[in-house]
Amino acid sequence: MSFLSQSDPEIFDAIECEKKHQKESVNLIASENYASRAVLEAQGSFLTYKYAEGYPGRRWYGGCINMDVIENLAINRAKELFKAEHANVQPHSGSQANMAAYFTLINYGDVVMAMDLPHGGHLTHGSPITFSGRTYKFVHYHVSRETERIDFTEIEKLAKECHPKLIVAGYSAYPRIIDFERFKRLADSVGAKFMVDMAHIAGIVAAGLHPSPVPYADVVTMTTHKTLRGTSGGLILCKKELAKELDSAVFPEAQGKAHMHAVAAKAVTLHEAMQPSFVEYQKKVLENARTLAAELLKQGMRLVSGGTDNHLMLVDLTPTGLTGVQVEKALDAAGIIANHNAIPFDSRPPLKTSGVRFGTPAATTRGLGTEEMKKIGALIVQVIKNVDNEKVIEEAKQEVAQICRRFPVPGIDD
Ligand SMILES: *Cc1c(COP(=O)(O)O)cnc(C)c1O
Repeated sequence: MSFLSQSDPEIFDAIECEKKHQKESVNLIASENYASRAVLEAQGSFLTYKYAEGYPGRRWYGGCINMDVIENLAINRAKELFKAEHANVQPHSGSQANMAAYFTLINYGDVVMAMDLPHGGHLTHGSPITFSGRTYKFVHYHVSRETERIDFTEIEKLAKECHPKLIVAGYSAYPRIIDFERFKRLADSVGAKFMVDMAHIAGIVAAGLHPSPVPYADVVTMTTHKTLRGTSGGLILCKKELAKELDSAVFPEAQGKAHMHAVAAKAVTLHEAMQPSFVEYQKKVLENARTLAAELLKQGMRLVSGGTDNHLMLVDLTPTGLTGVQVEKALDAAGIIANHNAIPFDSRPPLKTSGVRFGTPAATTRGLGTEEMKKIGALIVQVIKNVDNEKVIEEAKQEVAQICRRFPVPGIDD
């Protein structure tokens, strides 16, 4: 950091403040994680200079010989790890990956079915404030009011009525196992293609701890920075027949220059995800999530669907009368970082919400275990019950800081 402190003290100072913030707080944002030093080294490398439009062996620029080596490693590792026929490692983000997937699978104006945003869907699954909602006719399905799990009865009914060209599964705030096989049968029965956006659960799938969508879906998109534990980026898998179309949908249709530093970082991320230690890590992520959920329940909180099968959970704050934003702020003050989140059938607007989402991937990477999760669960509930009590929040903050001091932050302290 010495170069930055000399040349740009303002940015340097802000980064130093964020380091302190990260060290002193517990990160329970379900979509975040800490990448390894090796991944950060690749991501921060000079590879960012190189123009490598196109794909290995067919580039639009000279001097790509080493870029081909890097990208081929990333592609082959992705195919091996996820047992996929084809991989594209260039998407700049999960949203870009979804854009390219739609370009591959459907035409402008086509009908697509996906989960409604407040029920766990993503903005790029048809929200009118994104390209997806403006480009395609999205029909949204929901979770059932009783079980708060995917409502296949509704999906079947909707699919028969609206004749979708594509059905999308995969979510941002759904705490349960997804039955991809059932989705595939349903898609086949109405002649629709099937896409899975496993942005959140890619790491759990890689570890074999959640059923893989790869045998069932025409296209699978993901992010590399959530449970997969790399730096920011997207990745797409597909069947051989779609390979050519998918590659041209990513470049040149959706994106230009490949970010070769990011492609190298993805290759390193995938290599790490192929190690036995990665499976152990994902087991701990799930164990920590179950432990945190159990503690929240024990302390009287209501969880959407009653618990979790994966790395995340949603607390329904309705019984407390508080909004998600109020709780997010109070937790922030106590050094517990989480995000407000809509819950299914939420009566509050998206900028307030009745829910707060917790996830364990980042805290688990940092080394926190079930003992710490129990403690943090109890602190979360104390804060929720005392959002206006500065003394309680200050005490919680001290306890959080004490836990944090025992666990160095990867990429910061190492
Ligand atoms: C996070 C997420 C994305 C988007 O990823 P970005 O990299 O933020 O664009 C897409 N789909 C789902 C389901 C997600 O959870």
